[in-house]
Amino acid sequence: MAEILRNECGCRVKTERFDFHPGGFWGYLRFCVVLDLLCVMTFFMTPWLSLFFGTVSMALMISEYILYREPIDPLFAKRQGTNVTAVRPAGDAVRQRILFTGHMDAAWEATLSYHISGTFYIVHALLATSGVLLYCLWSVLALAGAGAWVDTAAKISLVFLLIWPGVLFYCNGRRTVDGANDNLTGCFLSIALMKALEECDVRLDHTEVGVVLTGAEEAGLRGAKAWAKAHREAYQDVPTFLFTIDTIHHPQFLMVNQRDMNGLVRNDRELADLFVSAADELDIPCGRGSIPMMGGSTDSAAFRQAGFRSVSVAGMDHHLEDYYHTRRDTCDRIDPEGIGNCFAVMARLLEKMDGIR
Ligand SMILES: [Zn+2]
Repeated sequence: MAEILRNECGCRVKTERFDFHPGGFWGYLRFCVVLDLLCVMTFFMTPWLSLFFGTVSMALMISEYILYREPIDPLFAKRQGTNVTAVRPAGDAVRQRILFTGHMDAAWEATLSYHISGTFYIVHALLATSGVLLYCLWSVLALAGAGAWVDTAAKISLVFLLIWPGVLFYCNGRRTVDGANDNLTGCFLSIALMKALEECDVRLDHTEVGVVLTGAEEAGLRGAKAWAKAHREAYQDVPTFLFTIDTIHHPQFLMVNQRDMNGLVRNDRELADLFVSAADELDIPCGRGSIPMMGGSTDSAAFRQAGFRSVSVAGMDHHLEDYYHTRRDTCDRIDPEGIGNCFAVMARLLEKMDGIR
């Protein structure tokens, strides 16, 4: 991809390496299963210990999976990832910078989604979380001196022992999917736009345009975090806007995410409005949505947290389809209409933003 950007798109290309721990983002689950089992085993003898194990398990899940932090990453092997930054210089003095971003890595296969369904995976995750919360509640009630009924409730809740081991099948670290939709669509839409500018010999007068290709998004946005840290200072010279393009599939689901990272991070409102109005001008349907709790995140959230102005654009149903994070995400599952619509909006957006500023 870096070669295409350098040789066919007229871009200055920089490839940067970053250290991260690929096992951390999903590896926390093994710790949680052990903590959950300890939470149950200790309840019937020492409720305060049960509350402790349950709380640590929840804190670990919230920190790694909901907030994308890295509390236990150093316990896993260190590897190097790659980020690519490609920029087409402006014709004249630069007044703004517009970067389209996509993640180059693909997901490890979600075993439950592949063998059963994405909805089953979400329901399972919610049930597994509820089980820990219930035992925390039973512990608090037992410590507060509630009657024998709490013991009975805790015994009935032993049914969660059948559910928790299932979390070990959320992610198969031995199989990486193709990721045709998630997220070669985002990468190649962004690259294709640079290529079209080059082929049509279009150079924006005062706007530097470019592409950021991140690594390790599926391992917890680690590439975007590293990129944001590395470029935060240098990119303060002119207003810099990032559009994260992630999983462009169904045309009817093309949308800007106003909230990202499990609904907890607010994307840039003005950039969202600009993308939607560019789509409106072309009569292309583009909605506004949010990534729901337990729905994950895009790189845009990592950029936002580092202080960048960014928004994410997706074209997928949040009721996870069979290709999402499974081996079915192959090139024959690409939706040409969805891709074409998004490309047209991205091109219109550039034209529009270059005119505005
Ligand atoms: Zn993904």
